[in-house]
Amino acid sequence: MMRFLKRLEDRDLALNRAMIPLGSCTMKLNAAAEMLPIGWPGFADIHPFAPLDQAEGYLAMIRDLERRLKDITGFAAVSLQPNAGAQGEYAGLLAIRKYHAANGQRGRDVCLIPASAHGTNPASATMAGLAVVVVECDAAGNIDLADLGAKAAAHRDRLAALMVTYPSTHGVFEAGIRDICRIVHDHGGQVYMDGANLNALVGYCRPALLGADVMHINLHKTFAIPHGGGGPGVGPIGVAAHLAPYLPNHPLVPEAGPSGGIGPVAAAPWGSAGVLSISWSYIALMGSEGLKRATEAALLAANYVARRLRPHYPVLYTGRNGLVAHECILDTRPLKETSGITAEDIAKRLMDYGFHAPTMSFPVPGTLMVEPTESEPKAELDRFIQAMIAIKGEIARIERGDWPRADNPLRNAPHTADMIAAEDWAHPYSREVAAFPLASLKTGKYWPPVARVDNVYGDRHVVCVCPPPESTRDAAE
Ligand SMILES: *Cc1c(COP(=O)(O)O)cnc(C)c1O
Repeated sequence: MMRFLKRLEDRDLALNRAMIPLGSCTMKLNAAAEMLPIGWPGFADIHPFAPLDQAEGYLAMIRDLERRLKDITGFAAVSLQPNAGAQGEYAGLLAIRKYHAANGQRGRDVCLIPASAHGTNPASATMAGLAVVVVECDAAGNIDLADLGAKAAAHRDRLAALMVTYPSTHGVFEAGIRDICRIVHDHGGQVYMDGANLNALVGYCRPALLGADVMHINLHKTFAIPHGGGGPGVGPIGVAAHLAPYLPNHPLVPEAGPSGGIGPVAAAPWGSAGVLSISWSYIALMGSEGLKRATEAALLAANYVARRLRPHYPVLYTGRNGLVAHECILDTRPLKETSGITAEDIAKRLMDYGFHAPTMSFPVPGTLMVEPTESEPKAELDRFIQAMIAIKGEIARIERGDWPRADNPLRNAPHTADMIAAEDWAHPYSREVAAFPLASLKTGKYWPPVARVDNVYGDRHVVCVCPPPESTRDAAE
């Protein structure tokens, strides 16, 4: 078993080997100490519906985590039930709907969502029965206040909510955030804040003070629960006092939420309770000063990467002061014209350099979004920057015509050990350039286990798994 797990680990490009610069995802290298308690029988071996007098310790931790999250966000109440950010969005929007209904405003069913929003926002709004109206962004990537004002006014009687991400998915602190919240409130709507980017705020700014009425946070982003591969996550929502009566609850466990709440959004009363000890430990171990320093380091790291890479890849959006928040979008679109190279080629080539790709084509198609997080030391940031600059040098060689557009280290990336060791090597660049483009890789090479796959092949070649009718006839005969 041990060797099997090690073999799987060796094939994986995980945080225990290198940074994972996935923008918006906040991939932190968390401390082993934060992980230990999830294996302790007291946390691991209890049933979600165990009688509460057998779960007093668990409940104490849950209540304490709620208290700490309220302190960090400034909200009056928190529900830990949602299992992911998207589920938090759904729960928060249902709370808003129920609040409107309680005020005799059942007809409020329009949700404004900026064009830059994460795809889960419109999906959750639709699931919550709201009609989505898209608000445009201006040239600087910020919400277009004039368009917001016009659409809020046009839907004045039906406006339920605005969903806004702060700092924005463009990686900037949107200077108009208070005005944005005011415009929505002035037209009778509630402000749903997408708190996936809370890593840029913790300890410095309580989102409730900006004007948000409800916000989800992602414990698996900001608060250290390891994620990737689909879970487990926790997407708690914090709400202002007027929405507290409409948090999720549970029919079998009255202690899990307010009696007049929206009902359960997850099967278990406290959702993914089994991983809450990770976030509790993270917050407790960091302390208030540590959390503030994490925010500072996350902002500093993103701005360092943006500043160093800007001469090589334009940084698409910055705030008025020329700075980014906790992540930055590198505009790789112009390279398509000059070299035929796309963001995907750069993402694949980064594997040869021992890095996981940044986020591709979100929120802007054809770009790369880098979020280093506070957990990366300067040496690792420099290693990433060096790789990105070296890749830009390779692109320059394609532009100069040294390598054909169709056969170069980027287009053929990633290079597996099989490719490098093959008898035949017909490419116009050496095996060394393919596998060891930087000398430092010779002492710490990650070998991608598979070469480039055709990403959309499966989508375009649907495989029917039901047996053809003839096969049943054959069996009968
Ligand atoms: C991650 C993310 C979400 C969704 O959170 P999940 O936990 O993946 O459901 C929503 N909005 C933004 C901006 C995100 O980065």
